[in-house]
Amino acid sequence: MADAHKAGPHPRVSLFISRSTTTSRDNKTGSWRFARPRFQDKTAPCSAACPAGVDIPELERAVALGQVDQAGETYLAENPFPSVCGRVCFHTCESACNRSRLDQPVAIHRLDRFVGDAALNTDRLPELKMLPANGRRVAIAGSGPAGLSAAYFLTRLGFACDIFESKHQPGGVLHWGIPAYRLPKAILAQEIGRIVDLGVRIHCNQPVDADRVARLQAEYDAVFMGFGLGKALALNLPGSHCMEDGLALLETIQSGIRPEVSGDVAVIGGGNTAVDVTRSLIRLGARPVILYRRRRQDMPAFDHEIAAAEAEGARIVELVSPLAFETTSHGINIRLGYMKTAETGADGRTRVVPDGDRTSNVTVSRVFSGIGADVAEPWHRPNDGDAADWLTLSHCALNMMPTPLVCGGDPVMPIKSVTDAVASGKQAAIALHAWFEGGADAIADAMQRSQVGQGPALSMEIYLGADRRYRDRHVVTADEINTDYFKLTDRNVAQQLPISQARASFAEIETTLAEGQAVREAGRCYQCGLCNDCDNCRIFCSEVSIEVENGKRRINMDYCKGCGVCAVECPRSAVTIEEEGA
Ligand code: SF4
Ligand code: SF4
Repeated sequence: MADAHKAGPHPRVSLFISRSTTTSRDNKTGSWRFARPRFQDKTAPCSAACPAGVDIPELERAVALGQVDQAGETYLAENPFPSVCGRVCFHTCESACNRSRLDQPVAIHRLDRFVGDAALNTDRLPELKMLPANGRRVAIAGSGPAGLSAAYFLTRLGFACDIFESKHQPGGVLHWGIPAYRLPKAILAQEIGRIVDLGVRIHCNQPVDADRVARLQAEYDAVFMGFGLGKALALNLPGSHCMEDGLALLETIQSGIRPEVSGDVAVIGGGNTAVDVTRSLIRLGARPVILYRRRRQDMPAFDHEIAAAEAEGARIVELVSPLAFETTSHGINIRLGYMKTAETGADGRTRVVPDGDRTSNVTVSRVFSGIGADVAEPWHRPNDGDAADWLTLSHCALNMMPTPLVCGGDPVMPIKSVTDAVASGKQAAIALHAWFEGGADAIADAMQRSQVGQGPALSMEIYLGADRRYRDRHVVTADEINTDYFKLTDRNVAQQLPISQARASFAEIETTLAEGQAVREAGRCYQCGLCNDCDNCRIFCSEVSIEVENGKRRINMDYCKGCGVCAVECPRSAVTIEEEGA
């Protein structure tokens, strides 16, 4: 030992290291095990919260790797409108994103839009799972998002589809109701074009009334009714005939006409229509004020749309309700009654009641209604009189006799959004296919089998038997993510038109993320529940029991002692630990 301390270039150190003459592989530590790990992909909360059930972690994995075409196909497998929904969906997926706990949710809608626009700008046709033609024909009334989606998914399931549209352009609310600054018409036309390219035939200027539905039932194997909400709601108050229909204003603007509106104008309502009307009026040169009977925080319009309207100069007067309108030589005088908050209702919303007799007056040049819409005809809803004949699902209702009739879209959905309309079309397509294949009992089985997580979102990929069906329904929570492996990063934001320019035209306000930004944003995704081959489990396994064969991980149970380090160190909860023998 003394030699070890001698000065010199090569000091000799004696070490006493035990040596074994047998391999440690002889020590089968698997016999110690009382818990057993298992590679098990699970469901990401964003996918479960997306009404269309888009496989978001898979899409983001592909974008992060630069596989943009594949990401587009991942989206299109579940939703025909990546560019549309990337722009107009209010992204419930982001509200569910586990990354919110660390910093900010992944900007999923911007990534959807990125892959959607990339798919429109390539000549490459997406590879979509399609079943062979089954010889059955479906007639679809209405070419809004529900009707177009029904046609898209039915065609992929082998049906031949004809859409009958009353107007001269297809798209329904997407074309006529959503202003161009949020959704340019060229983008919509391209995404509709992709549905037509699948073989869907759209017949414009072909209104469908009740008699025609009966005739279509005789001519086709099934009929889907996607009429939407075609009648604006009106207030029945003294002088309220002076109110103009906000939806009609949007439609006029979308048809290319720019009506002259100036000075102070009022918009009644707090939903998305009210905000779209308000922002459109700003672009026409008016000074709109939103009059809303509840509080600003109770407005059903999307928060970011309300904030954008305010940034563009709209005023919001909350807790006021119109009582009467009087047309005078100075304009329209609106008598407003003040409201105040009361108890919370059964729906969780704070109720409002009149605040005594307090009133005030406001004078404006015009008043637009944005209080919502209803079905244009009562029969556009499933017939209440024959409720027993209808099978009601989460996003559509079906009456199978004598010819299957499906009612979808806004008239039957609890949440009225574009992506819920897509979900409605998909649910109708799966239900019809299941019924033709296996009768009424097959519908419930198909719904259950295609669920993303606990539903109600459905996956066409799962229905068609893709690998996604092997994922566990468990929805990964933020507590199950090992955030030690993720750095704090800012969400990537897209460029916006300066407000002065935005106010002056109907040009699109937000740009699409640049590719580098999209790759960085996709890299922020944890890929909750999906193994992405990071190899952490193998690196940490002290028994070297995780082996990789042909790119697939397997656990050698002779050596896995069930310590669970693989599950703990898996950043994304793709390893499950179970009691041995469970
Ligand atoms: S981190 Fe990714 S997979 Fe997880 S919820 Fe957010 S977007 Fe979805
Ligand atoms: S640690 Fe990495 S390689 Fe192992 S299961 Fe989790 S994601 Fe897959």
